[in-house]
Amino acid sequence: MAEVKSTCCYCGVGCGVIIETADNHSSKAEVIGVRGDPDHPANFGRLCSKGSTLHLTANPELQKQARLGQPAIRQERGAIPADVSWSKATQTIANRFAEIIKEHGPESVGIYVSGQLLTEDYYVFNKLMKGLIGANNIDTNSRLCMSSAVAGYKQTLGMDAPPCSYEDIDVASTIFITGSNTAFAHPILYRRLEDARKNNPNMKVIVVDPRRTDTAKEADLYLQIQPGTDVALYHGMLHIMLWEKWLDESYIASFTEGFDVLKDLVRDFTPKAVAGICGIKEKDLYLASEWFARSGATLSMYCQGLNQSASGTAKNAALVNLHLATGQIGKPGAGPFSLTGQPNAMGGREVGGLANLLSAHRDLSNPEHRQEVADLWGVHSVPEKPGLSAIPMFEALRNGELKAIWIVCTNPAQSMPDLNVVHEGLSKAKFVVVQDAYANTATTLYADVLLPATTWAEKTGTVTNSERRISRVNPAIAPYESSKHDWQIALDVARALEPLLPNTKRDGVETLFPYLTPEDIWNEHRASTQGRDLDITGLSYAILEECGPQQWPMPIGSNAGKKRLYADGIFPTKNKKARFIAAPYKATVEAVDARYPFALNTGRLRDQWHGMSRTGTVGTLYAHSPEPCIEISPKDAGRMNLENGSLVHVTSRRGSEIFPVKISEDIASSQAFIAMHWGSEFISGCAGKTAGRGVNGLTCGAIDPVSGQPELKHSAIKILPT
Ligand code: SF4
Repeated sequence: MAEVKSTCCYCGVGCGVIIETADNHSSKAEVIGVRGDPDHPANFGRLCSKGSTLHLTANPELQKQARLGQPAIRQERGAIPADVSWSKATQTIANRFAEIIKEHGPESVGIYVSGQLLTEDYYVFNKLMKGLIGANNIDTNSRLCMSSAVAGYKQTLGMDAPPCSYEDIDVASTIFITGSNTAFAHPILYRRLEDARKNNPNMKVIVVDPRRTDTAKEADLYLQIQPGTDVALYHGMLHIMLWEKWLDESYIASFTEGFDVLKDLVRDFTPKAVAGICGIKEKDLYLASEWFARSGATLSMYCQGLNQSASGTAKNAALVNLHLATGQIGKPGAGPFSLTGQPNAMGGREVGGLANLLSAHRDLSNPEHRQEVADLWGVHSVPEKPGLSAIPMFEALRNGELKAIWIVCTNPAQSMPDLNVVHEGLSKAKFVVVQDAYANTATTLYADVLLPATTWAEKTGTVTNSERRISRVNPAIAPYESSKHDWQIALDVARALEPLLPNTKRDGVETLFPYLTPEDIWNEHRASTQGRDLDITGLSYAILEECGPQQWPMPIGSNAGKKRLYADGIFPTKNKKARFIAAPYKATVEAVDARYPFALNTGRLRDQWHGMSRTGTVGTLYAHSPEPCIEISPKDAGRMNLENGSLVHVTSRRGSEIFPVKISEDIASSQAFIAMHWGSEFISGCAGKTAGRGVNGLTCGAIDPVSGQPELKHSAIKILPT
């Protein structure tokens, strides 16, 4: 038996794992077990139900059923794909992309990637699109996950940098969990919170969520707010803090700007008004405000409940306002801590792998930043115009503006909201490339070219978790059949495309893609971070290997990463001050009404991950929640004469699906919950508009105007007995 240290490939907690293999000295080595890495500072040896069953997903028999093993081409849509060589597949993609770019321009092609990719993968794809093709049409499924948190941090603190560490959970006095079922979505952090409560019985935990989740059930104070009313809640809390003089006036005066405008705005958010908007008791609002403001250290932990909203940026900023107003930031146990959904949503942003970003947190809108990146890459320029973000990218496919798309390691035909747009867009596209480890997703059905990629236990590179900690991902077994690493595939296509798009390179630059190993790529990324907020010029693969995972920044000369940001009250803004944002409260985009009277919320199950390509292959992971259902309150079930298991039509303005009912005390009246994971293969279609596309056949595609993140947490629906 042999052992290899690596990282869990599911959530943004970023737990260290030890992969156990048999027959390690041959190319036929198999994964036989996995356990938590006791030395990894994210989890100290613990794993949740998903992480501890990772080895089962690498079972060789299962691989044969689930994996893509060979590159393949479809002669026409709907045909069975025929296996081809890698060189044929690569050259086909390069030729088709070059033809389309020559005919319609560089903005006629797009790349849609994933927070599951490693930093090195992301780096090559980003350079391929922005450096070689010369457009910014690369976006990621992290847009559906973290983009409102990014925008909220940038508006208030100046940079996309979570200021906290997991260690802050251990020493906080109050933990304010809002829009996060941490017990299910980030289980190992929740275990840490449970330990902290045992060690400090005086710790207060407040949970804000429209749904009484497992996290909410354990709270000292639970605020069951109406969907989408978070901004009103935070403004109401600030109103009370102002009235009671619980603010840190000295911190506000020394380190922030813009408080007077916010003060004027929150004047109208009286306890009575806010209690009415949010559907909570005034006394609970008051208590939450007191525990937040008057604790020695308040840590907010938040996730998709804030982010997946058409007001996601405003929600994030309004929460950060509370921390700035009370000085609850930059000290142990305090700060606004956005929990990352995916394992490497952070790493993707670090290399600028989104339609509006450039390498090392640089901004497309900044001419100096564009020039710095052009100089680093050896290209004439980097285009200024922001690319298409996730939702507009598929809308552009549908309206013909975008002709070709390359989808990498993600399943948008299941995971995007308002799936009609995505399916119509993919049907109309002139050319679709799908690169994935898994063969049978809703998206692979549309592929003209299929590219088999490696996955967990095979991949090599780095990821960054929620606390800015960079960890190595190491291979324990050989790539499955002919699959290649994502960065290698991007590199092969880029090198085939380079001679077909010769005008982008500067004179004397032989190739934009001179890498032999992932470390070569990472070293170029590292060089790009010099002087930036995420400077890692003091870090190397060797240090990660010898000293273990490290937090950024870690500039040259430092011998460890930084636990906590902004301890000195200096922020990365022009005048070094943090900014209060006076964002008005806006209700959800799609109001419930007489025709669609229920508010549909979506979220995670404990034991499944995203579209279930991986977790759906492990039988034991169905034990906790074996089948799709719609959860509704006992009151609504009684009113409609429904029992557990009754089948109902669930219909939104976009489509209709049939679900069995689960009656739950955890759901408020006139609300409903469906887990986000269930795609078309699990749900029988009905005679509605979607013909069985799963939960996202129902959800709303409205986006936040700043972050571009869709409102996946709220859609108006009706529920009718079948
Ligand atoms: Fe993996 Fe997240 Fe579970 Fe840790 S908490 S084992 S990273 S799924």
